[in-house]
Amino acid sequence: MEVREKELSDRLIAEHRLSTEEYEELLTNRDEETAAYMAAAADAVRRQYYGTKVFVRGLIEISNICKNDCLYCGIRRSNRSCERYRLSAEDILACAEEGQRLGIRTVVLQGGEDPYYTDDVMCGIVRGIKERYPDCAVTLSLGERSRESYRKLREAGADRYLLRHETADPEHYGRLHPPEMSYDNRMRCLRDLRELGYQTGCGFMVGSPYQTVRNLAEDLTFVETFRPEMCGIGPFVPHHETPFAAEPAGSVELTCFLLSVIRLIHPKVLLPATTALGTMHPQGRELGIKAGANVVMPNLSPTDVRRQYELYDNKICTGEESAQCIACLASRIKAAGYEIALGRGDFPKEE
Ligand code: SAH
Repeated sequence: MEVREKELSDRLIAEHRLSTEEYEELLTNRDEETAAYMAAAADAVRRQYYGTKVFVRGLIEISNICKNDCLYCGIRRSNRSCERYRLSAEDILACAEEGQRLGIRTVVLQGGEDPYYTDDVMCGIVRGIKERYPDCAVTLSLGERSRESYRKLREAGADRYLLRHETADPEHYGRLHPPEMSYDNRMRCLRDLRELGYQTGCGFMVGSPYQTVRNLAEDLTFVETFRPEMCGIGPFVPHHETPFAAEPAGSVELTCFLLSVIRLIHPKVLLPATTALGTMHPQGRELGIKAGANVVMPNLSPTDVRRQYELYDNKICTGEESAQCIACLASRIKAAGYEIALGRGDFPKEE
């Protein structure tokens, strides 16, 4: 580690911020020693707030029908070879019940932007879960909706919302998305969610096509200023039926480095070790946790549809039952020196 990298790391550790230029410099000049230094610091601040706890969120993939056409995503509407499915309210409640039985107290309902889930339908599902399991947090990850829609869902009881900003550079955003989608609307959604009182998650892919180190530095500045309660990052993984089929996947090493930086920017942030990270490396999620991540998201979807929720190639965890998925994660986390925490795992209130 050069003197300059040591200086930047130490300043980030002490002040939780750097300029965009400095993030860029740190990312460009990082080496193994810098990464180990940052990971140790990130692990130490996480322990300060969360100990060795890793929170569990049960992921229910409610539909792979999508009206959007994001160029990176395997369930984009232009993918004719995707076998589509949608879960009914009853299916979703059954998954939530299984999650409860297994001790999970946060469910994440994620899906493509499927017009079937109107506000009425979706509010009914959220209320159904909240009535049956009042101590269970409900997180939604259903893409872009109107402010009014977010308001109704919040009123129905939704606690949290995950909407990755994908990239903080409008021009880069334009190269990853079809012309009818816009960076401004994405940001509007994030602001609305925040204002409506959701615990809000943003995030981005590491190594997405056309991404520059400068873009990643801008993503870090965005995380620094937006101060999300949650931040989802994972490597880009190509999907064979998308325009990005031949693009290289994102790096596990860089993803872990960024997890450490984000933990140091925002010590209390809830930071998942994602399935994409686990897909790119057999120990990917463990590496992510050691770098500063403190959330895992085992799959609670019905086993017969998991293969179809294919955002990218070779997605892991599509075989096992939900109980096996949790048991597997628990033993991996324990082996890495951490412990699984069931329970809601809310973002700690700011002093
Ligand atoms: N439709 C919803 C939720 C599903 S997509 C939404 O848009 O928010 C969830 C996340 O998966 C996306 O935000 C994106 O960052 C990630 N993702 C999609 N395709 C991917 C790929 N090929 N590789 C890695 N991550 C991908």
